[in-house]
Amino acid sequence: QRPVPSDVTISRSCVPIPIECLAEEIGLFSDEVELYGRTKAKVQLKTIDRLQAQPDGKYVVVTGITPTPLGEGKSTTTIGLVQALGAHLKLNAFACVRQPSQGPTFGIKGGAAGGGYSQVIPMEEFNLHLTGDIHAITAANNLVAAAIDARMFHEATQSDKALFNRLVPLTGGQRKFSPVQINRLEKLGIKKTDPSTLTEEEITHFVRLDIDPESITWQRVLDTNDRFLRKITIGQSPTEKGFTRTAQFDITVASEIMAVLALTTSLADMKEKLAKMVVATSRSGQPVTTEDLGVCGALTVLMRDAIKPNLMQTLEVRGVVLGCVFTNYYANHLDRSPLKINYTLFMVYCCFLPVTEAGFGADIGMEKFFNIKCRYSGLKPHVVVLVATVRALKMHGGGPTVSLRITLLYCINLALLEAGCSNMRKQVENAQLFGVPVVVAVNAFKTDTKAELDLICKLAKAAGAFDAVHCSHWADGGTGAVDLARAVQKAADLPSSFKFLYGIEVKKNKNVWITLQSYFTDVHVHTVYDIELLPEAQHKVDLYSKQGFACLPICMAKTHLSLSHDAEKKGVPTGFVLPIRDIRASVGAGFLYPLVGTMPTIPGLPTRPCFYDIDLDTESGEVLGLF
Ligand code: ADP
Repeated sequence: QRPVPSDVTISRSCVPIPIECLAEEIGLFSDEVELYGRTKAKVQLKTIDRLQAQPDGKYVVVTGITPTPLGEGKSTTTIGLVQALGAHLKLNAFACVRQPSQGPTFGIKGGAAGGGYSQVIPMEEFNLHLTGDIHAITAANNLVAAAIDARMFHEATQSDKALFNRLVPLTGGQRKFSPVQINRLEKLGIKKTDPSTLTEEEITHFVRLDIDPESITWQRVLDTNDRFLRKITIGQSPTEKGFTRTAQFDITVASEIMAVLALTTSLADMKEKLAKMVVATSRSGQPVTTEDLGVCGALTVLMRDAIKPNLMQTLEVRGVVLGCVFTNYYANHLDRSPLKINYTLFMVYCCFLPVTEAGFGADIGMEKFFNIKCRYSGLKPHVVVLVATVRALKMHGGGPTVSLRITLLYCINLALLEAGCSNMRKQVENAQLFGVPVVVAVNAFKTDTKAELDLICKLAKAAGAFDAVHCSHWADGGTGAVDLARAVQKAADLPSSFKFLYGIEVKKNKNVWITLQSYFTDVHVHTVYDIELLPEAQHKVDLYSKQGFACLPICMAKTHLSLSHDAEKKGVPTGFVLPIRDIRASVGAGFLYPLVGTMPTIPGLPTRPCFYDIDLDTESGEVLGLF
């Protein structure tokens, strides 16, 4: 239909098939599916055991050039491609996308169910709450935060004996250590299981985590763009007896628990990872974990449903979506790819082509997807789909930085476009370093001309792309991405020569600085001139080297709006020094992430956020104003 109606109108015009019918159609047994209403379901983990022996499919990752703040259509292309592969080429293709964070949904960017005639439906179900996985992360994350402050408070206000008696209470006239307490004793080198045999010194050691408040790296989270929570003071009630401290909130999807979920392979593995998360350092320099706090079992309970993949559908049913929980907000876990369970489900089931998305620009999302996700999951990617748009490439060529009014970028200007294609060339070259064929998908907007679209395709092929096509899946659904689907199918037939850029031998280093240098030299060699450690980052290099975390792989958290740390630098900036402000450790999930440049870890709201337009029709019960 022309003009293309709003996303929500399109979504509503399509009656979804009952999700249990869809599950049956793709071969899931009824006892493997947990229904959440009529359009959403979770898939039980036991399904994986049944499917274990199946061969892997061909694995496609959708990423993009350095985008404008509006997004260049990675989600839309992921869904459009899967609709084309599934509904038109009749291949078993699934999309594996992340759930949208409420932050962007009510803030600036809007939802993340795709757009136009390439959408996950019902889009309001997908964009709002879904099956509550993000809320589970908020709950689990904040339980840890509460546990840290409460523990410091109790340690400061009680004697060793009182603490011991409360931590190891009398039950049936006897004191008994819990399993996590036995683990803690082992960690402390105390080989005793009978609480009555501990010496006074051992009791002190056991009951006091002795957290240095300055060293706390665990933050509270909220799935709302609330800039006033970027720095707060907690503990101001008189009941906390003056134990105030400065703290901060992050957006929920930046929580390490999100990263754990993204990288986990099973319930047991998730439990182990949740237990290893480091939240602070003790005054004697030891890392303090969630297991030390005794909270890891409760976290696993809170997360036990969130780990199960969610099943939904696209506008063209055969392109099914398994929406995994994690979204990508900041670069610590910003790839939108699914946890291995989802991969396994896709690949083994019927899936010839699982299609996933690595968020932001390829320099962050794809790089991390390859170096961390593929390393941990052991899965080999077969094709990179690099989404490019005329408007973003014009911006890189020197056109105005896109704001919500972007008419200037829609004027034909081939010279500007050609200059801006340098950004696409760079991203194609980066992807090729990993040995994976690249198909450039030029996501066409109605104002684009054929000459512009053809120019991008020509330059993409000249840059070494396996193929480059323009597609109109936003306006035409799967039909508009059939050429893309064919190109992807051909590229997927090539033998995989995927390799990691980030040398495994780096892992033997004892010094985080060496690991960092290798990361920036091997992975970002073409863009970064040098790196500079600011004081907090230097402190973390020393601390994490001492604590034995130099073996963890690295991915950086930086703006996605430039190949550099400065969002204003477009095209292919070169010769800059990358300032590393701080380094965070996601020890449970298994990586370190330098914070590059300035970047808030909880966004703020603009003057007129998306929520202005969102309302409920109380008669029909319909959500209004969702994009
Ligand atoms: P990304 O995943 O790259 O951030 P999205 O796929 O979420 O981008 O798209 C961002 C917004 O742009 C969405 O609202 C989507 O509907 C819209 N959009 C995507 N492609 C097109 C297109 N070809 N024409 C018009 N709007 C589009």
